[in-house]
Amino acid sequence: MTIRSVLPHQHPRVAPSLDAESVTFLPLWSRVVFVDWNGVLNNEPFWASILTSNQHPLREVLRRATMPLFTEQRETLRAWMRGTLTSEAIVRDLGVSLDRRYKPDFLLRRLHEDCRRMRCAVALVEELRAAKTNHLIVLATDNMDCFWRAVPSIRDLTKTIDAVLCSSQLGVLKKDGVESFFGPWLRRHNLDFRDALLLDDTAETCETFRVAGGAAIVVTTMEDTVAALREWRLNPRPSSQ
Ligand SMILES: [Mg+2]
Repeated sequence: MTIRSVLPHQHPRVAPSLDAESVTFLPLWSRVVFVDWNGVLNNEPFWASILTSNQHPLREVLRRATMPLFTEQRETLRAWMRGTLTSEAIVRDLGVSLDRRYKPDFLLRRLHEDCRRMRCAVALVEELRAAKTNHLIVLATDNMDCFWRAVPSIRDLTKTIDAVLCSSQLGVLKKDGVESFFGPWLRRHNLDFRDALLLDDTAETCETFRVAGGAAIVVTTMEDTVAALREWRLNPRPSSQ
């Protein structure tokens, strides 16, 4: 189980925090905002450069190959997100045959490239950066190894977040239980669910996060989300500490 800080920058108030991979430095703030990726900061599909293109020759064959994976094969998808299946294995099992124009690893390379090109919702990034002046900002995502590898390259993200919780590294999904997903990180940073806000588009996850003691905003529109985050950061309730 690993958690990494993706921010190399120094902060005026920092404390060393030892994790499984390295010594990282995080600000000494007493509250944390966990922000989801898909459906919150970003809405792009994997292989966006192919699947959202009107002209790409592989668009239709890839759409047909990936649709069952993303709509029906839930256990396969969850295994990919828990890190028990790799992107290499997933691409191999798609069974897309490529003609001579493409190298054999084209779909895998393009998966990684498109992840690195993903963009963040600008309005939410701005509000998170305002919150970052006195809160920790942590990306909390049920996501795949390809996304995890791309995080340090995603524009806007590395300047916004202090750390990443990704299911493919943790081996557990938010849906498996908020305590197992968030609890170890909170304890490691001497924080409690009562010190935390979750921004997530999955209502069930938000509800279990509230039951654990946290605050949660079910993300629907970006306008409402930004307003709710601003209200939370400007009107703090007493910390657990
Ligand atoms: Mg989501």
